[in-house]
Amino acid sequence: MRAQLTAVIVAAAVAAAQPGRRSVSVIVIGRTVITENAARQILSPGAVAISGTDIVAIDRPETIASRYTAPETIDARDQVILPGLINTHTHAPMVMFRGLADDLALMEWLQKYIFPAEAKTVSPEFVRIGTRLAALEMIESGTTTYADMYYFEEEIAKATREAGLRGVLGQTIIQFPVADAKTPVEGLARAERFIQAFRDDPLIIPAVAPHALYTNDRATLVACVELARKYHVPVITHLAETEDEVRFARERHQTTPTQYLESIGFWGPGTLAAHGVWVTDDDVQILKRRGVGVSHNPESNMKLASGTAPVTTYLAAGVALGLGTDGAASNNDLDMFEAMRQASFLAKHANHDPTAVPARIALDMATIGGARALGLQDTIGSLEAGKRADLIAVSMSAARQTPLYDPVSHLIYVTRGDDVRTTIVNGKVLMNDRLLRTLDRATVIADANRLAVKVRDAVRQ
Ligand SMILES: [Zn+2]
Repeated sequence: MRAQLTAVIVAAAVAAAQPGRRSVSVIVIGRTVITENAARQILSPGAVAISGTDIVAIDRPETIASRYTAPETIDARDQVILPGLINTHTHAPMVMFRGLADDLALMEWLQKYIFPAEAKTVSPEFVRIGTRLAALEMIESGTTTYADMYYFEEEIAKATREAGLRGVLGQTIIQFPVADAKTPVEGLARAERFIQAFRDDPLIIPAVAPHALYTNDRATLVACVELARKYHVPVITHLAETEDEVRFARERHQTTPTQYLESIGFWGPGTLAAHGVWVTDDDVQILKRRGVGVSHNPESNMKLASGTAPVTTYLAAGVALGLGTDGAASNNDLDMFEAMRQASFLAKHANHDPTAVPARIALDMATIGGARALGLQDTIGSLEAGKRADLIAVSMSAARQTPLYDPVSHLIYVTRGDDVRTTIVNGKVLMNDRLLRTLDRATVIADANRLAVKVRDAVRQ
């Protein structure tokens, strides 16, 4: 009895005296931790210690256990832990137009369906409900950061912050009257108020989003860049998405879309170009020289038959290349696992080269590559001590994931968004073992279904 008691006292003393048993907020233990750090280190098994908003250590589980203690431990010992996925191009509320008009070319799709539908339905309420639905889908499929361009962007920012996601959110500026601005000048004033309201937010980076060069005149494009530079915020635009856009630029400006924007001083670090499908080698060099981030959106480009972005050329040139889904109306989901798979397949198919965009490169594009494209590589995109704790844990036990030889192969070629079990952003657990902590699933879905009735009626008229 006395010996037992002594043993208990000694054990307690050892535990208390263990040097470095620092108290942190969350510890996540995984079968494998894919860090995406510079050495592309993979730990099997591995664990991540999180304190507040930051990662404090990544190591073997026993090492983490000997150094840290936390009120919450997430046991993902049968799962793979990796950096949260970064979607570099979407229009979150467009989930409300999912499946409304499919199987059309971009200009017809935009001008006959999407722009009229938006004119009749887009409101602060629409944007709020749509963003919540998009956030639900993103959290459930492992996206932790997204870049957005839409209207009433302050409502998107509020809903994103409430859901706990990180966002680079661009207020759209467009030449014709839209739901939140009658003129581009009004849109710019709205963008400025939005920037002022959110520029110090820990999760939201406000941005200015001129829709495209074919939907804005020169004065508006220049004013967008000037506004962004005044506040040191990003500029997001669509670039060279279709051959029609190239034709427009040639007729109107006698040059390529990229070179026209270069000629008006549009490009610089902190600009993000979505698509970049129809670019020349000279265009790619301009984008590289100016430090422009490019979002590749393979699913949208395939569905709208826009063309194939020269991904291998971008990669060879060292352009910061991220991966996006584009809006759900042209995809039709926000699942970044599918985007990674399609990015890999499309590059192989287009180049007649099965070695193009291997799994590890597709994973780079959705993690550290996306962070670079957004200029956020010092804070997110990889699991490293000192970076923000944005990470996911993914199940690897489905029939289609068995056997498991190479987790990176499985993440790209067989994993789906639904396999994500846990999503953490800025150190906060948004979903643990599929249980949501910031959104009420039933309410989000019911609100969206109620709003869909109005959307359908508006489009029928
Ligand atoms: Zn887009």
